[in-house]
Amino acid sequence: MTDGDTARFTPHGVAGLRPGREIEMHEATIIESLMSILVRQARTHGVDHIQRVRLKVGALKAVEPQALRGCFEIFAEGTVAEGAELAIETVAARVLCRTCGVESLIQRFRFRCSQCDGDDLSVVGGEELYIESIEV
Ligand SMILES: [Zn+2]
Repeated sequence: MTDGDTARFTPHGVAGLRPGREIEMHEATIIESLMSILVRQARTHGVDHIQRVRLKVGALKAVEPQALRGCFEIFAEGTVAEGAELAIETVAARVLCRTCGVESLIQRFRFRCSQCDGDDLSVVGGEELYIESIEV
């Protein structure tokens, strides 16, 4: 991958969470391991073309779907997944309050219980990152 390529998927509007460069690396790393799984699966099952890949990504993974798709397009070139659609489903971040036992949705990375405003929480959703299905 050249520098010209990486410039294409510089994420916008990530609210200064991390410098753009690091986020690109993050997404490229995810796609790299996704590609190796796809290639291995295709070989195992004797598949010569993949149509669609469904990915589940937890909101806490701080992944930019558009950047992920951009990376995928580049990495898939010349492989069984070339031209395949990458369908990304985001899984909401959820926490369970250890104080009152209520489950809350986390928005904008504000880690507080919606019931008692407590911060003694365990994460019960939003850290997912897996392939849900591969369509051939
Ligand atoms: Zn609570």
